[in-house]
Amino acid sequence: MPAFDLRTVILMSSVMPGLMALVMFSLGRGFPTNIRGVGNWASGALIVSASALLLALRGSVPDWLSIVAANCGMIVGTGLWLTGSQRFFGLLPSWRFLVLMLAIGVTALSWMTWVHPSVGGRTLCMTAVLALIYGRQSLVMLRYGRRESSAVFLGAMFLVQTVVTFARFVTTFGAGFAHAELFASDAVQVLYLTTGALMSLTVTVGFLLVGMDRLRTQLEQQSFADPLTGLLNRRAFLTAHQEERETMMRTGGLLSLLLIDLDHFKAINDTFGHAKGDDILVDFSQRAASMLPRHHHFARWGGEEFAVLLPGLNPERAVEVAEAVRARIAGNDDHLLPDYTCSIGIACKASGDATIERLVKDADEALYRAKHNGRNCTEVSDQVILL
Ligand code: GH3
Ligand code: MG
Ligand code: MG
Repeated sequence: MPAFDLRTVILMSSVMPGLMALVMFSLGRGFPTNIRGVGNWASGALIVSASALLLALRGSVPDWLSIVAANCGMIVGTGLWLTGSQRFFGLLPSWRFLVLMLAIGVTALSWMTWVHPSVGGRTLCMTAVLALIYGRQSLVMLRYGRRESSAVFLGAMFLVQTVVTFARFVTTFGAGFAHAELFASDAVQVLYLTTGALMSLTVTVGFLLVGMDRLRTQLEQQSFADPLTGLLNRRAFLTAHQEERETMMRTGGLLSLLLIDLDHFKAINDTFGHAKGDDILVDFSQRAASMLPRHHHFARWGGEEFAVLLPGLNPERAVEVAEAVRARIAGNDDHLLPDYTCSIGIACKASGDATIERLVKDADEALYRAKHNGRNCTEVSDQVILL
């Protein structure tokens, strides 16, 4: 075994979390409030960094600092990482579990430092507690972050950390608590400490990546969505139309567009107030969505006007869908909101002709007729031949 300078290895475990804590603190301040837990990750990293520094100073600072405070700091720091992850995924932080871990740590470490000194006993206690915390951390990441690749990576890292920590526990136990000195250069201790140093580097960067990934996804979603209804915004709808049209050009097929406008909405606003008007817009988007076929694109076109793109339907089917939406809206069943209705104009074109401009022009003309015919009805563009 080459002679590893384990003190330097432990010192390395201190530097990276310390630096990353500063980065996380400053970036976390700019995160939207619905991304939780980044503050816990940053505080955890700072405490882990300080604790690793105290561990590295073993022999140069009093035992109560380098043994009891440093190890308890490790429990608190890694515990904060766990609570940060739980908050990040919308779970309740397991404070009781952490208080229990800390109580075990403080009691056992104090006992085995001053009352009945046992280096092996302390190692056994610390590796058991840390393996439990790392194990839970890994479970949270792998279970709740399975759709985010950075979280899966971080979960896997914590799993490795759990296994190595547990291996340290088993070998200490197997050796009858021997060879457990902090700077003992036996293979498992070297593996344990170097893995710890590498992990402190990867997991703190990992936490940051997980947070940044979430931020990026959230910003992406916001740039596609209408903030009030959560439907697509006009820009996203245009992109969806472009993509559907390209697909239809290859496979052959029709594109239908429904333009839906709420009736007498200005009067509704004037009578019940703008906030109620907003509630109706949300209610409309939810109830209309429930009547649409599986493959559709539904957008808020602007104000109280909505657009639905239906790829691959024949005109008769598009009319059926529009009528189902209109009837669902007219049949207000919950009575929490004022009754309201909508009018719908339908355009349907072969993909070659189905530019968004032509579809909108035809659907708009049909919508105009629907309004003219008394509202709460569906009209089809003159350009569409129904069988
Ligand atoms: P019609 O049946 O002919 O469509 O009549 P209308 O009153 O619905 O038509 P008009 O275009 O005159 O009015 C649309 C109203 O929609 C006016 C505007 O104040 C309201 N509106 C637009 N956007 C919003 C919104 O985000 N929230 C609320 N509450 N009202 C909105
Ligand atoms: Mg209207
Ligand atoms: Mg309108």
